[in-house]
Parts: sequence; structure tokens; C-alpha cells
Amino acid sequence: MMQVFYTKKELTAFIAETKSQYKIIGFVPTMGALHIGHLSLIEYSQKSCDITIASIFVNPTQFNDKNDLKNYPRNIAQDIEKLGQLSCDVVFVPDENEMYPVTDNRMFSFDGMDSLMEGEHRPGHFNGVAQIVSKLFALVQPDKAFFGQKDFQQVAIIKKMVQKMNLPIEIVACPIVREPDGLAMSSRNVLLTPQHREAAPLIQKTLLLAVESAQTLPLEKIKAWVVEHINSSEYLKVEYFDIVDENSLTSLKRFQRGKMQVGCIAVWAGNVRLIDNIVFNL
Ligand code: AMP
Repeated sequence: MMQVFYTKKELTAFIAETKSQYKIIGFVPTMGALHIGHLSLIEYSQKSCDITIASIFVNPTQFNDKNDLKNYPRNIAQDIEKLGQLSCDVVFVPDENEMYPVTDNRMFSFDGMDSLMEGEHRPGHFNGVAQIVSKLFALVQPDKAFFGQKDFQQVAIIKKMVQKMNLPIEIVACPIVREPDGLAMSSRNVLLTPQHREAAPLIQKTLLLAVESAQTLPLEKIKAWVVEHINSSEYLKVEYFDIVDENSLTSLKRFQRGKMQVGCIAVWAGNVRLIDNIVFNL
């Protein structure tokens, strides 16, 4: 039976017991409204860990937009049901007082990685992510933590945070899970109107064509074409598209053979902001 903990106290007692048995702990932090993408992370954890712990907490400090926080889908009962069906061992569902008993005004620095792309368009977002993930890591003390490549920049920043804080945690990046039509799964997809939902698969279709074109066209041309092609839909508006170095996240001027580079995009579909990315492996 999956155990559901609402307090740090319950979780801490469980962790102490589990550590005393030298069990490998896998951790999957989420904001709930769980879909198959989230559940795939649970399965990856179960494959390589003795105990899998998920958390559900809609973290206010990472929302730069108050309306986004208010409208963020929440469905705790269904989430607990889904995790139970997968035989997840523990789900931690704290409330805001539990996670922020006092105001957290810690400021993290990620050497510029946090001010590009998502960081540029969502000021303070990654600082909030680092606040909550570092608090959860301190409580759960996982051996491994599983994150989705869907949030490519987030994975890079969390890896950096773990290095800077000397945390003995392995960060495992897992592949993007998509709908049959290619749209990356996201909790926010349920907020799309039927027209925007129908238009949204153009994002990945365009990225796939961009990867094909990279054999023959220069990077700057491809960047411009991606924006133009997606914006040709009346339902989609690109916020940014950039092709960056996999590790430093710095914007590239030309493709580099033999190196992993990633095209990262954010698109407004009506009031819903969607992100996606694709690897250019030339
Ligand atoms: P969220 O609940 O949006 O904070 O996401 C929790 C975790 O699930 C993060 O590590 C995300 O990157 C991951 N995730 C979200 N969507 C997907 C997806 N479509 N495929 C794989 N992982 C995902």
C-alpha cells in the first residue's frame, strides 16, 4: 500500500527508517495534475531504486505570474489514485506552511544560466525552483532524483545546484513523453481551448523539420524559419526559440559537429504557455 504523508514529521520518520535499512531512495518531485509523463519518471525510479517517493506541491515561489498560479490545474485525489496504481511507495503532499514555515529569501546564482530563455521570460522562476527543490532534497535525502527533459533548462540548473551544494544526489534526466500527435505532455494542456489544442502539435512538427534542415541550412536561417512557421498559425505565438549548447545553455551562432545542441522553445497558445525542445545531434 502506498503511504501518503502530509507533514515533514511523518516523512522524516519514514526516511530515517528507510536509511537505516540502507535502501536506495528515488525521488520524483512534481506539481501534480499528473499525466503519463510524470508517471514515466516514477517507473524510471522504480527500475533503479528500492523505494520511490513522489511529491506533489504547487510551489508558489516559482510562479512569476499570479494568474498562472491561480489557474494551475490541481487534482490531488486523482493524483494519489494514479500513484497508488503504479505502486509508488510514498507520496508527500505538504501544504504551504509545511514547506515555507518562514519566508525563504535565499538567492541562488547559476552563473547566468538562470537568466536565459525561461529565466529571461519568467524572472525569479529558477530561484523559486531551486528554493523548493533544495528543501525537498533536504527532507527526502534521495540517492537519485528523476526529472523530465521536457524542462531541459530546469534539469541543467538542478544539476548545477547539486554540484554547488555538494549534494550526494544523482540527477537523472528522462525522455519527453508526448501525446500521439506529438504535443509534449504538460499539466497545462488541459487548459487549452479545442482550437489551440488542435494547433499545438505544430510546435514539435516544426522542430522535427528544423532538425532535418540542419543538415543543409545555417543555424540563423533555421531559427528564423521556426519562429515564422509556428507563428503562421493564428493560434500560436512564439515567445522565444533558441539553439543552445547542451551544458552551458549559451546561444549558438552556428552548428557544431559532434556536439549536442538543443533547440528550446516557448509558445503562447492563447493564454497557455507551452514549452518544448529538441536535440540537434549533427
Ligand atoms: P511539473 O509537475 O510540471 O513540475 O513536472 C514534474 C516533473 O515531470 C518535471 O521533472 C518535469 O520535467 C517532468 N515532466 C513534465 N512533463 C513531462 C513530459 N511530457 N515528459 C517527461 N517528463 C515530464
